[in-house]
Formats: sequence, structure tokens, C-alpha cells
Amino acid sequence: RLQVNNLTRRYDGRVVVEDVSLRVMPGKVTCLLGPSGCGKSTTLRMIAGVEMQDSGEIHVDGNLICDTVFRVPPERRHIGLMFQDFALFPHLSVAQNVGFGLSGDKAPKAARVAELLDRVGLSQYHAAYPHELSGGEQQRVALARALAPRPRIMLMDEPFSGLDNRLRDGIRDDTLDILREEDTAVLLVTHEPEEAMRMADEIALMRDGRIVQQGAPYNVYNAPVDRSAMAFFSEIN
Ligand code: ATP
Ligand code: MG
Repeated sequence: RLQVNNLTRRYDGRVVVEDVSLRVMPGKVTCLLGPSGCGKSTTLRMIAGVEMQDSGEIHVDGNLICDTVFRVPPERRHIGLMFQDFALFPHLSVAQNVGFGLSGDKAPKAARVAELLDRVGLSQYHAAYPHELSGGEQQRVALARALAPRPRIMLMDEPFSGLDNRLRDGIRDDTLDILREEDTAVLLVTHEPEEAMRMADEIALMRDGRIVQQGAPYNVYNAPVDRSAMAFFSEIN
């Protein structure tokens, strides 16, 4: 599980993430939802470890991975990442992409790659190269690659926004099914209320760097904390 306590980040004296606390349980999805510029990606980057917070702590499965003096490097945090620009390695095959982050013996690595390609329905493409796949298929490869090392936490920053509407719903649902099967704790960033309502077990509504409301999707939707939250959700129809 992921536990974030009182994260704060300033750029040039301006606070962009302020006192953000979150908890995500295994197999659950928390959506960090809010308008452009509210600090969602900055929050994710601090959890991933590619950016340092000014104050606050991050724990994975009860272990401290980062505070203001102690810092586990990104590759040892057991955290998987999926971003909109998911950038597969163009010169590597689908199977090589999925196995890229795996270390150890060949046979178990190959078995894990095969298992994941089967799970995302792309076994027949194992020897293909990324440019031979559609956008949706590439997205599935990116998911398989992110899951290969069995991360305890998956951080997703608008991973579906590059897909056309027709594809998106199916891929969202498949992605969630797989993440739940793997019992991964998911923190999903989006600025679309509709996506959060569809995917989240819990929504953390963010504005101007702060979490202004947190709860089950229908509670947040039915009882917005203020006018601004109400206006934000009124885009859904
Ligand atoms: P979007 O939905 O558009 O992706 P976001 O919620 O992810 O927005 P962030 O990218 O976290 O927003 O940015 C939050 C604020 O911090 C913005 O005002 C942004 O301009 C500022 N910011 C982000 N990175 C830096 C940086 N490296 N230096 C200075 N300011 C930054
Ligand atoms: Mg962002």
C-alpha cells in the first residue's frame, strides 16, 4: 500500500503542492482529480522519486522510502509508472520491451513476459516492433512492461488521454482488471471527472496544490465540498 503524509513542494517560493496526504490500498484505485496546473503531476513525480519534496514522507507497504533526509532511489521503490507519453523502446521487440526492467535468470523472466503478454492479449505480437502496433496495442505493451517487475504501486498520469474515445473505454476497463488481479495499489491522475468516476474506488479532489475533498466517487459527486467543486463535476453528463 501507498501512504503519503503531508507532502509539500515549492518552486521559486511558490507552493505548488501543499500538505498532500493520501493512502492507497492494494487492489484499489485512487484518482487524483483536478484542473490543469493544480499539482497532480508534481505529486506523482515526488512519489516516483524523480523529484524531491520540501517536506513530508512517503511509505510503501509500511516502509519509509522518502522523507526530507532519507531517500530510496526511484528504481528501488517497487513503483511502476505509466504516463501518457509511454514511449516504448522502438528498437526492441514487444517481448524485449516487456522484459526490459526484469533482472535474474532467463527462464523465469521469459515466463513472466509470456504471462503478461497473454494477460494483455498480445501473445501473437511478442516478436513485433512497437511501430507495427496500434496506439491501443502499444498502450497494452506499456502496461505489461510496467507490471513486469511486480510493482506494489502503480502511478499513472493521464495514461489514456492519447487514445481515441472508441478504444479508451475498453482499455481502461482491461487495465483496471489486470491491476486488480495483480493486487497493485493504483494512483491515477486525471483532469477528467468522468474518468475518475468510472475508474476510482476513491477520489482525491485537488485544487491549487491542496486536496480539498476525498471520498468515494458518488459521495464526492453528490456532495461537492463547494461551488467550485460542483462546477468542476457539472461537466459530466
Ligand atoms: P496538468 O493537468 O496540466 O498536467 P498538473 O496538475 O499535473 O497539470 P503540475 O504539472 O503538477 O500540474 O504543475 C503544478 C504547478 O507547478 C504549475 O503551476 C506548474 O507551472 C508548476 N511547475 C511544475 N513543474 C515546475 C518546475 N520544474 N519549475 C517551476 N514550476 C513548475
Ligand atoms: Mg500533469
